[in-house]
Amino acid sequence: MFENNFTKQLVLIGGGHANVQVLKKLCMNNIKGLHTILISEHYEATYSGMTPGYIHKDFSKEEISIDLQRLCFNAGATFIRNKVVKLETNNQKLELQNLPSIYYDLLSINTGSTSNSKGIKIENSSRCFFVKPISLLVKNLNKIDQIIKNKKSKIAIIGGGIASYELAFSLLRRYENNLEITILGKNILKEKNLNRKTKKYLKKISNHLVIKEIQGEVVSITETHLTLKNGFIFECDLSLLSSGADIENWLSKSDLNKDKNGFIAVNDNLLSTNDKSIFVTGDACSIEKNFRPKSGVMAVRQGEVLKENIFLKLTGRSLIKFKPQKNWLYLVGTYKNYALLNYFFLSFHGRWCWKLKERIDRGFINKFKFTNNVSMTKKNLELENLKDIKMYCQGCGSKVSKKTLVNFLNEENSNPELSDASRITTNSSYMLQSIDHIKLFISLNPYDFGIISYLHSQNDILSSGGSVQTISVSQALPFSEGIIENFYMEYFMKGIKSEAIKDDSVIVSGHSYQSKEPGITITMNGIFKKQVSKNQGRENDLIYLSKPLGTGYLLAAYFNNSDFLSSIDFQNLLEWLKKGNGKASEISKSFNSNITTDISGFGLGSHLSDICKSSKLSAEIKLNKDILINKNIGILENFKSTGFDNNYSSSVNEILISDSNKLKNILYDPQTNGPLLLSIHKKDQIEFEKKFQLKLGFRPILLGKFKKSGDKLINVID
Ligand SMILES: Cc1cc2nc3c(=O)[nH]c(=O)nc-3n(C[C@H](O)[C@H](O)[C@H](O)COP(=O)(O)OP(=O)(O)OC[C@H]3O[C@@H](n4cnc5c(N)ncnc54)[C@H](O)[C@@H]3O)c2cc1C
Repeated sequence: MFENNFTKQLVLIGGGHANVQVLKKLCMNNIKGLHTILISEHYEATYSGMTPGYIHKDFSKEEISIDLQRLCFNAGATFIRNKVVKLETNNQKLELQNLPSIYYDLLSINTGSTSNSKGIKIENSSRCFFVKPISLLVKNLNKIDQIIKNKKSKIAIIGGGIASYELAFSLLRRYENNLEITILGKNILKEKNLNRKTKKYLKKISNHLVIKEIQGEVVSITETHLTLKNGFIFECDLSLLSSGADIENWLSKSDLNKDKNGFIAVNDNLLSTNDKSIFVTGDACSIEKNFRPKSGVMAVRQGEVLKENIFLKLTGRSLIKFKPQKNWLYLVGTYKNYALLNYFFLSFHGRWCWKLKERIDRGFINKFKFTNNVSMTKKNLELENLKDIKMYCQGCGSKVSKKTLVNFLNEENSNPELSDASRITTNSSYMLQSIDHIKLFISLNPYDFGIISYLHSQNDILSSGGSVQTISVSQALPFSEGIIENFYMEYFMKGIKSEAIKDDSVIVSGHSYQSKEPGITITMNGIFKKQVSKNQGRENDLIYLSKPLGTGYLLAAYFNNSDFLSSIDFQNLLEWLKKGNGKASEISKSFNSNITTDISGFGLGSHLSDICKSSKLSAEIKLNKDILINKNIGILENFKSTGFDNNYSSSVNEILISDSNKLKNILYDPQTNGPLLLSIHKKDQIEFEKKFQLKLGFRPILLGKFKKSGDKLINVID
């Protein structure tokens, strides 16, 4: 439930090492009146300290990643997976790559850095990979695997800092020494924090692993070779650019002050030196008069101050200062279970150093893992100058502000006169009409939710054999003001519109109000050529589902912090939630399917038994893993959506299924934008499946067939 009346918007850009700590603090504290959004390019944040360990396969992707959607869910924040492409500080506005702009009251930028390619001409055909941002390196590993696969390869690492060495060690282990690595750099091992003994160790290990070094400045990279400033040509199969840091264009083009190297200048509170509504941390910033080399350690340390300062600023208290260390602990993985430690004049190489590194790294990343059903009682704080809202208005008083509505309609160029009703013209004497409502899942991008709510409603029209003509939308927005109310209205409506356009359907009317339970209600009108109804099932017709099931219990598991579901599982779930049934309906119509229904909140068991009852038939079906969005049966056995028990009790008596059937729960799982249930004549089986696969890119799921009416409406065979 959204308890707050949101009056201030905190936007975090980038799930870097500092911003994730702000979100973690929000998991334990609620600031009344605050609405928080995280915008980041990927669903996962990669922890730099463990990335070399991931490259050499000591850790899995999950072990080194922070699941940003889940972190946002626990923090009560909204997660938008997208890329910021422009910052307008004068309007406090962010432009996103392919979503509507977002406005902020307070901004925190922690977007890391990219590899510095200044002064290097890189040809398009070159196989050059940037090692920063580190998340990109992780993403590109598959491509590197493809190049190196089964062939002794020559690799150039352009850089010469400690990261180049660590990268070289981990690549050699990943590819089992099937590599020849050369480190090329202007300044090899010149970091002043590394003591003499550490440098000696690094050289010794490199020699042992036959890593070569070439001193010099790379000026161009082609498909086959690198060229140095002195004219030397170095042939290689691929290169990795580990040549220091740079910031992205959108940030360097912003009017925030920069230091002499182009990084955003911040004061010791980590605030931009010329904009006190913007914090910048990590690789993207430089602290005035206190320059330090870029590192994940520094970003983590800054995060500890950032999270306090954001809270202090929002609650109107004095900020604390970040005092960067002059030197810090370096721990670099070398051989399997070995690491090299550097701290001031101390240097050690051994197994215990690896153990220490693993303990420190796991200690950090584990703070962002959530255990099942964690119930964090949050401490309550209040925004500075929070308006005292005694009671939320009821009745018509809970409408959104006229300003927000008019702004939105003007921007959309629709209904400028604010008329109360629309005239609908249609050639058909009959129309289909349906209404549906779903509640917003906390932390979900409201644009995606708009898409899902359209598709969820569209299923009612499709299942009657129709197509959508017009829609009316009623939106429940969270109690909020200004830019926050705008955000929800625009994201909900544009998400809905992105699907309506595909149907050529028109939004004819709408209503918006504020509620503690945000959500969307859509009324749809549709037309049809041939209406299908539930009583037309035919014996021996095949029963198909247009896509797999499982949204109910999977969402329940994910939002109960189950470690059964990873971030990738959630992404897969979201993809199915955003997949419509329009094409499947068209194909089934072309095969004269005379039964279609959508599997909705009542679940498969209830919908199929309704059809059987109306058609005076029974269904014989078989359940296998293909029917599930997520093939891990353990999740189905352990998690239930809140609607499960009602669904179970209303249809269990109609179904014959063995107690030992591990998939039995799927019959009662409520679906959000679930599949269509289609019946196809037996003779059309091959052609139907072929056409479906061709148009949709995946196979329809064959459940079973209709047969003569028996004792039970549904018989599940093992
Ligand atoms: C091979 C290698 C090994 C390293 N090992 C270590 C080590 O052991 N210890 C150490 O301290 N440092 C290490 N580093 C350095 C470390 O990776 C960086 O200094 C650190 O990741 C910077 O952290 P950050 O929080 O600033 O940003 P990042 O961790 O890079 O996070 C930035 C986030 O912002 C997102 N983002 C970027 N641009 C946008 C945008 N426009 N819109 C939305 N989101 C955006 C990204 O997707 C990412 O999630 C290593 C570097 C390399 C290359």
